[in-house]
Amino acid sequence: MSALTSPDLAPIVDLVVWVETRDDDSSDEGPVAMAASHVGRVRLHPDGRHLVLAGQDPIGSEDPMAFLPYDRECASPGPRTSRENAYPDAASRILSLFADPTRSPDVAVLHTPRHFFPEQGGHVGEHGSLDVVQSRAPLLLSGRGVRGGGIIDDHARLVDVCPTLATMAGVPDADLCDAGGDRLDGRVLTEHLGGERLAEPKVIGILWDGAHCGELLHLAKSGELPGIARLIRDGVALRGGAVAQFPSVTLTNHTSILTGLGPGRHGVLGNVFYDRATGERVVPNNASTWHRSAEWLRPAVRTVFDLVNDLAPQEGSPRTACVNEAVDRGADYSTMAMIRASGSSSGAAGLNDQLPDAHASVHVHDLAHLDDSYFAWCTQVDDLGLEQMRQLWGTLESAPTLTWWANIVSDAGHHAGGPRSQIARDSLRDSDSRLVSFLEHLDGLGITDQVTFLLTADHGFEGSDPTVTGSWRPALDRLGIPFRDEGPGFIYLLPDPGQT
Ligand SMILES: [Zn+2]
Repeated sequence: MSALTSPDLAPIVDLVVWVETRDDDSSDEGPVAMAASHVGRVRLHPDGRHLVLAGQDPIGSEDPMAFLPYDRECASPGPRTSRENAYPDAASRILSLFADPTRSPDVAVLHTPRHFFPEQGGHVGEHGSLDVVQSRAPLLLSGRGVRGGGIIDDHARLVDVCPTLATMAGVPDADLCDAGGDRLDGRVLTEHLGGERLAEPKVIGILWDGAHCGELLHLAKSGELPGIARLIRDGVALRGGAVAQFPSVTLTNHTSILTGLGPGRHGVLGNVFYDRATGERVVPNNASTWHRSAEWLRPAVRTVFDLVNDLAPQEGSPRTACVNEAVDRGADYSTMAMIRASGSSSGAAGLNDQLPDAHASVHVHDLAHLDDSYFAWCTQVDDLGLEQMRQLWGTLESAPTLTWWANIVSDAGHHAGGPRSQIARDSLRDSDSRLVSFLEHLDGLGITDQVTFLLTADHGFEGSDPTVTGSWRPALDRLGIPFRDEGPGFIYLLPDPGQT
């Protein structure tokens, strides 16, 4: 551990985290989460107590509302030490990452928010940390059966989305369990539900990948995101958003959102992880593997689509639909199922010639952004997603009970420029244009007020500092012990080949 927490690595290593099984007293507390940095080492008890074991507590705060109101985040977007930062629900989120029997790393290393590591896949805008800003996704509930309130000072967790969507769709509380009968990690956000619901509810969950919570609410308030503003007017948005699971990366959190479970229970530990049981390096967040995501879910996992499908079947049309989302197990209609059925051996990556032309999109605010190939591809995928949504919602009667609609260009915009950059803001405007277009489609059918909406994201974003570069790998190499570093940041210690 001391190799990773030496002061010379402090500009790039924010924290090192792991779990320990206590054997120093008779407590039956089970594994406890640990965190260290160059300033000290702390044991994090599940009840929130911090026991400092050396030096200073490296975890300054666990406040989920830290750096709010948004002006505070804008005033200090950048370099922060871990003692000036905040890590909500640190113990429970660390414990979940380390709870998988064969896929959890031995140690996880958090990049500092400033760390810029393009040679290892890093971008100008990044996420993945345990910290509050990278873990803060927006959360809006709107429409039929939602209590109003506008923007309020509250927060939730992304694991709360699945049980909340399922409840909105009519799933009884007793059924909010995994296949083994254990309760989900998330809870139903009942405090925001109320009013008259339909006998056959219609629910739409919307995800804008990587949409920055503070930016989303700020731009909606200033009139630049009329679709979001409309959802807030007819519902509620949490200023503190919803806290992602750790690591705050895409596939881990899409899976947590749609299963109500932390990674230690659902099994998708990261966008890249290693499975000791199979000796396999798993890369679930990739255009060539998204359609296979259900293969990595642990057996007891039930998705929100499974939960809703256990209700009585819907005659002649899908009860559940999953648009442009990798975690689609159980959905009656699914973009990924169509990709699987196409027989494309490289998944979505092999079907690019079937996507619409990005330059012909009416939703792009600045065509110059299409020079970024990821932004251009996301534009194509999102335009096709909107088309699927229009087809699924031909009438209220034929529309699915639960529709999940993932959009991705907001991830491309924030990776390319970081939060508050022009390309990030335009990516939110583009997504909002698609949302407005779909709401107008519902308006045309006269059914918008019959629908319950939930809008969220899978993580937040922070901007890196191009001058803060480097790698912790040489420090690990110098130890002379076999290891894998996936991500980078998940450290797996391997058996010494000379010993086996
Ligand atoms: Zn993402």
